[in-house]
Amino acid sequence: MSASSRYSAHLGLEPIGTAGQQGILDARVGLVGLGGLGCAVAQYLVSSGVGSLTLFDFDTVSESNLARQFLYRPEDVGLRKTEVAKSRLAADNPQVALEIHDVRVDQEYLEAQLLSLDLLLDASDNYGTRQAVNRACLSARVPWVMGAAIRMEGQLALFKPGGACYSCVYREAAQMLEDCPGAGIFASVAGIVGVSMAHLALMHLAGLDSGTGLHVFDGRSNQWQRLALTRNPHCPECADT
Ligand SMILES: [Zn+2]
Repeated sequence: MSASSRYSAHLGLEPIGTAGQQGILDARVGLVGLGGLGCAVAQYLVSSGVGSLTLFDFDTVSESNLARQFLYRPEDVGLRKTEVAKSRLAADNPQVALEIHDVRVDQEYLEAQLLSLDLLLDASDNYGTRQAVNRACLSARVPWVMGAAIRMEGQLALFKPGGACYSCVYREAAQMLEDCPGAGIFASVAGIVGVSMAHLALMHLAGLDSGTGLHVFDGRSNQWQRLALTRNPHCPECADT
């Protein structure tokens, strides 16, 4: 199978075309978190042909993951998520270079990794990791896509160097999507947010402007809202960058 036939739907699509697909094929992308959001993100990035995808996760597969984390099957329970995901994704598209890091990332670890990445996506499930990702990406001047989902609600945004950062937006809003492992998550909401993160990433890599904004999904009414992302001149994280 040739690359041109695999990606023909992109190559023939006017806003993407050969140049846009080449941007995707050349991209070196990192993904933090291989849960409900991360599984959807990884599958779309890999099937669309990103040049390389580096996966970061420290967890093992548990039975309660299987309802929405579709890279894993019942026989994978107890195995490392990174290893199972790599093997499934490699079978999906052998043209993508996959690298795995079985580690709980912090700012310092990510900063070293970002030297060889063009874009990072954070699909982790906690505020502390998002803050570490924000700081590392500010320091390395690498754009990143944030995604979070809980219960019936999801949020996502693309943060670019020079624009508003995560801490500009989430000073007070951090409680909006609190870390609450027992709160539950509707399976399809995780999928919708994960695929939407991949959408923002692929648009960016293809050179298309998706605009700026914090995208908020309400799963009960099945509606999206877009809130302005405004840089805070007094932000403790990005004011000096
Ligand atoms: Zn900021």
